[in-house]
Amino acid sequence: MAEKKQPTFQGQDLVYYNALMKVRNELSEQMRICAAESLDCTNSEKRGVTTHMADSDSSRNEMGLQMLTENGNVISLIDDAIERLANGEYGICMDCGEPISKARLMARPYAIFCIKCKSRHEEMMKNR
Ligand SMILES: [Zn+2]
Repeated sequence: MAEKKQPTFQGQDLVYYNALMKVRNELSEQMRICAAESLDCTNSEKRGVTTHMADSDSSRNEMGLQMLTENGNVISLIDDAIERLANGEYGICMDCGEPISKARLMARPYAIFCIKCKSRHEEMMKNR
């Protein structure tokens, strides 16, 4: 990743920053492990496996890839959140512009929607 000057955070911002970095590190670690495992799967498939074996392998592979994508999305959300934190725009709902509650931010520091908008979005997803 490109070197960026590290903004310095204080007080509550620093708490959020540390929470963000903690999740980010955990996800990066998970992705590293998962990526290594997915590579193994790909290799074994190339070496030639029986058809039903290949089936279970590919579904495991897909799951791994899906997880990689999801984690990748969260990591980019975290990077965005850190940027907003540096700009003093952190913790504002991207939808309604209301502040996101501190409890929610501590549970999910990369949240970009307040709980109201988030549940509205989830409802919309369910109805799709
Ligand atoms: Zn909102």
